Amino acid sequence: MRCPCCKSRHIIRNSYVWRDFKTVPIGHIPVVLHTKIQHIKCKNCGCDMQEEIHFAHGKRTYTASLENLVIDLLDIETINPVA
Ligand SMILES: [Zn+2]
Repeated sequence: MRCPCCKSRHIIRNSYVWRDFKTVPIGHIPVVLHTKIQHIKCKNCGCDMQEEIHFAHGKRTYTASLENLVIDLLDIETINPVA
């Protein structure tokens, strides 16, 4: 695990939070990922934030794979059926 600001390995793991992410549905069943996200504090730069998540961008509540699915579906459908 590294600091998201300066990429240093000198970090302190402060606490964690549980976050929910909507992801690609299985059939017509919606799927929500319930995962623990670590808070870290950097000893080098003092940065205090959540760890980087590789499957979602920033503070979004849906995964990158769901985002890609919606973008692909919008090529063949209008917004109402996709929603
Ligand atoms: Zn840092």
